[in-house]
Amino acid sequence: MDGQRALPPTLAPARLDHLRRGISGTGPLQQTLLPFTGEPLTELPTSTADDLDAAADRARAAQAGWAEMPTRERAAVGLRLQELILDRSGALLDVIQAETGKARGHAFTELLEVALLTRFLGLVTPATLAPRSLPGALPIFTQVRQHRTPVGLVGLISPWNYPFSLGVGDGLAALLAGNALLHKPDSQTVLTALLGRELIIEAGLPADLWQIVVGPGGEVGPAVIDRSDQVIFTGSTATGRQVAERAARRMIKTSLELGGKNPMIIRADADLDRAVPGAVAACFSSAGQLCESIERIYVHRAVAADFTRRFAAVTDRLVVGTGFGDDYDIGSLTSAGQLAKVDDHVTDAVALGARVLSGGRPVPEAGPYCYRPTVLTDVPSTARCYREETFGPVVAITPVESDDEAVALAADSEYGLNASIWSADARAARALAARLPSGKININDGFAAAYGSVHASIGGWGRSGGGHRHGREALLSVTRVQTVARQVGVPTGEFGPFRGLSYRRLMSDVLRAVRILPGR
Ligand code: NAD
Repeated sequence: MDGQRALPPTLAPARLDHLRRGISGTGPLQQTLLPFTGEPLTELPTSTADDLDAAADRARAAQAGWAEMPTRERAAVGLRLQELILDRSGALLDVIQAETGKARGHAFTELLEVALLTRFLGLVTPATLAPRSLPGALPIFTQVRQHRTPVGLVGLISPWNYPFSLGVGDGLAALLAGNALLHKPDSQTVLTALLGRELIIEAGLPADLWQIVVGPGGEVGPAVIDRSDQVIFTGSTATGRQVAERAARRMIKTSLELGGKNPMIIRADADLDRAVPGAVAACFSSAGQLCESIERIYVHRAVAADFTRRFAAVTDRLVVGTGFGDDYDIGSLTSAGQLAKVDDHVTDAVALGARVLSGGRPVPEAGPYCYRPTVLTDVPSTARCYREETFGPVVAITPVESDDEAVALAADSEYGLNASIWSADARAARALAARLPSGKININDGFAAAYGSVHASIGGWGRSGGGHRHGREALLSVTRVQTVARQVGVPTGEFGPFRGLSYRRLMSDVLRAVRILPGR
């Protein structure tokens, strides 16, 4: 291993040994790879059925006391975590890069999102979960309080592409809501989860509340579902379907954040000086291994030639490379499997008539899994990458004649995760947004504006799932509602002289009378 690819001291063997102790696992070791070189990174113990049982028991035992703690004290853990994330950003970036292969700048966006989220959740948790008094069936005589209680043990199954954001970020909402976590990170990105867990324990979380289990997704994933009271899953649509089916057998709630085939629309009035770099960032962040990534661009004919030429030129200049420094615009894909899928999609499209305007090939001299950011045009509808998620640095540009054509093409997908519109006309862009079947729409941005706005809940439409990430909904979605209604004075049914017709008349008059009260 040379220069920039050598493991930094934050990943020294003793440190990795220490982190590994956070796994609830006594099973056979499994190896992870350093995508920068394809060489072994570390070995991790896997979790047996007994390990899973013991982890779930420990988490449940700890959860009882945690749920009883005042919400303000739980929320304080979130507030302290932000400072720790900012202080330890160097070590966090090292581990995210070592496991995913992404460029350092792209790793930093994960930290930014979680740092924003910790503060938001820390601030809003107490008020969001506080009991609410609500109007009762009979004014004055029915007193209603609605309580939010944690579900208990939340199963968290997360992918490898944004391991900090989708592990620590999603887990935090469940924890602050009073739950415990049984977390199965993807096997390639366990160290990031372990470091995140270590930080949150330092911020004040009782250690047993967050159990990390490791092993093959098809075995340990279902085992997590079978032991949990609710499941938060992020990953592919195919696996999401299996997760939903398994959870349905036990009638437990799921939050599913799945795949995408995200469109961008460039209107004729778009400011291309901003749209071109914005589109490049949206297509190639984390080498396109970002669920929000733009894989289809529909550009108005009037600016199509100019946009396409400038977009391809900027893409040509992107520096692809592997290392822990800041020298590269684009890092590596995470695995040989990802590289093969990306190469298949491009080869298939080209064989069917697509033209390559930039990239279109692996870059083994930069790293064993590196692929040049690729711009395609004339992609036929029969090509795999026309509809299927590539999940790599590949985008197809298609000129369109009108907004209507752009909307029709953008909407022609089973997914509905993210969309982007570039236009100088805010009103027209908002009108266009209302016509797109997508859970997130970014105007004059590719993905970060909506994703980074953590006060607003986000979730996919269609085959992209339908979870509740961010916003107060993220907290509410991992709670159960308990309504406690106390009846005082008069009963809810017939009483005293009010029986039969006189009761019906009385109640009809009461309904008319309460209309003068606000909200009734
Ligand atoms: P994946 O579905 O293969 O794996 C996701 C997780 O599920 C992993 O931890 C895996 O081990 C586990 N798993 C595998 N089989 C399982 C099973 N049968 N039961 C339970 N768990 C199982 O997805 P991936 O390849 O790791 O991630 C890439 C996909 O995730 C892409 O489709 C991407 O769009 C999607 N993604 C979506 C979002 C979002 O917010 N919508 C975010 C990131 C990634």
